[in-house]
Amino acid sequence: MIIGGGPLFTFGESNLYLACGGIRIHDGLVVEVAPFGDLKEKYPEEGIYDTKGKTILPGMTCAHHHLYSTFARGISLPGDPPATFGKILEQLWWRLDKVLTLDDVYLSALIALIECIRSGTTAILDHHASPFAVRGSLQAIARAVERAGIRACLCYEVSDRDGPEIAEEGISENADFIGYTQWQCSDFLKGTFGLHASLTLSDETMRAALAFARPLKVGFHIHAAEGPEDVADSLRRSGRRVIERLDDLEILGEKTLIAHAIHVDDHEIELLARSGTMVAHNASSNMNNAVGFAPIPRLLEAKIPVGIGTDGMTGDLFSELRTAFLLEKHALADPRRGWADVSKMFANNSTIFSSYFDHAVGTLVPGGYADLIVLDYHPPTPFNSDTFLGHLFFALSSRMVDSTIVGGRFLMKERQLLFLDEASLAVAARELSVKLWQRF
Ligand SMILES: [Zn+2]
Repeated sequence: MIIGGGPLFTFGESNLYLACGGIRIHDGLVVEVAPFGDLKEKYPEEGIYDTKGKTILPGMTCAHHHLYSTFARGISLPGDPPATFGKILEQLWWRLDKVLTLDDVYLSALIALIECIRSGTTAILDHHASPFAVRGSLQAIARAVERAGIRACLCYEVSDRDGPEIAEEGISENADFIGYTQWQCSDFLKGTFGLHASLTLSDETMRAALAFARPLKVGFHIHAAEGPEDVADSLRRSGRRVIERLDDLEILGEKTLIAHAIHVDDHEIELLARSGTMVAHNASSNMNNAVGFAPIPRLLEAKIPVGIGTDGMTGDLFSELRTAFLLEKHALADPRRGWADVSKMFANNSTIFSSYFDHAVGTLVPGGYADLIVLDYHPPTPFNSDTFLGHLFFALSSRMVDSTIVGGRFLMKERQLLFLDEASLAVAARELSVKLWQRF
C-alpha cells in the first residue's frame, strides 16, 4: 500500500521533509519514502490512500503512561484537598488502585487507548497498578491493547505497600508477562519489569525483582525522585539519595527507564549518565502534583536519553509537548528555553522505544514500523523542516488528527474509529466507574 499526497515529515536522523510525500508499506513496515507522484508511477499495482493535501507525520509516542487512571476523572477525594504529593498518593492513587478489578483494568485501558488513537498516539509504555487484582492484570491490558491495535510495552508496579504477598504477586505478574511476550514475539506487545518507586520498596523486594529480571534480560520501569518524599524516605532507609540507592541495588542500566528524576543532584545525574539509564519527563503531571521541574537542561547535557511521557494525565502528546515547552521557559524564567530541549526529548522517545521494540518507532524510515498519522491542517505560514517546531508548539493539536495508522493498518480513518464503538464503551465505563467510586 502507498499512503501519501501531502506534506510529509519523517523525523528521526534523516529528518526528511517532502512537500507532497508518500510512504510505501509492506507487512506493517515502511519500505520506501519518496515523492508521492514517483511512488504511484513506480508501483502502479499498489493500493493507494491519497491524503489529498493533508499532512503526514510519524505516530506520537508516550514514554510513561498509566492506562488505569481513566476512572479517576471527576472522582471526589475524602477529607481535605491533598496538600502534598504524598497526600495525593494516599488520598487518590493508592485508594483508587486498591479497588480496581480485572474488569475495571480492561475497560479503563481500552478507554484510554481510544484517547491515544484519537490523539494520534501509536505507541506507549504503560506502568500498571491494581494491588487487589494483580494476577492477570497485564493480560487484561494486553487484551485491550490488542483490541485497540496500537503498540504497548506493559509492566506491573511492584510495591511493598500492600504487604509481602502482593509484592510477590507483582514480581510473578511481571515475570510471567515478560516470558509470555518473549515467547509470543509480537511486534505490538512487549513487557518490561515494573517497580513502583523507591519509597514503597524494600531492598529485599528490589533484590527479588532483580533475580527475576536478570535472566529475562530486561530492565526496570520505575518512578524515581518524583517528590521530596522519595528523597527523604531513601535517606532514612539507606543514607543514600534515590538514584544512589537504585544504583546500589543494580536497578539502573541501559534497559531501565525512570519516570520523573526531579529531585536529583549532580552525583545522581552522573550515575544516570554513566549507567545509560533512560528518563521519562512528564511536564503536565509534575505541574498538577506541584512536585517541581526536572533539571532537563542538565540531564540532556549529560547525554541522558530523556523522553516525554504523560504519567496517565492524557494520551495526547501534542498537548504534552506544548506543556513541556512552556513549563521549561516558565520554570527557568528564560524565554529562550524549551525549543531545543523539547525537540531533543521528542526525538529521544524513538531511542527509548527502540530498546523495547524490534523496529524503529516514532520515525518514518525504511525498515521502521509503518505507524503514521494524517493531520487535517491548513498552515497559514510556510510549513517545512525549518518551521516545523513553530507549528508544533503553537498550532498543531490532537483535534487535527484525521487518521491513525499502526503497522500499516488504519485504526481511525477520517475521524471514524474502525474497530471500536466509543459511545457504547463509554456507557459501559460509566457503569463500572460508578461502582468503583462506591468502593473508593
Ligand atoms: Zn507515573
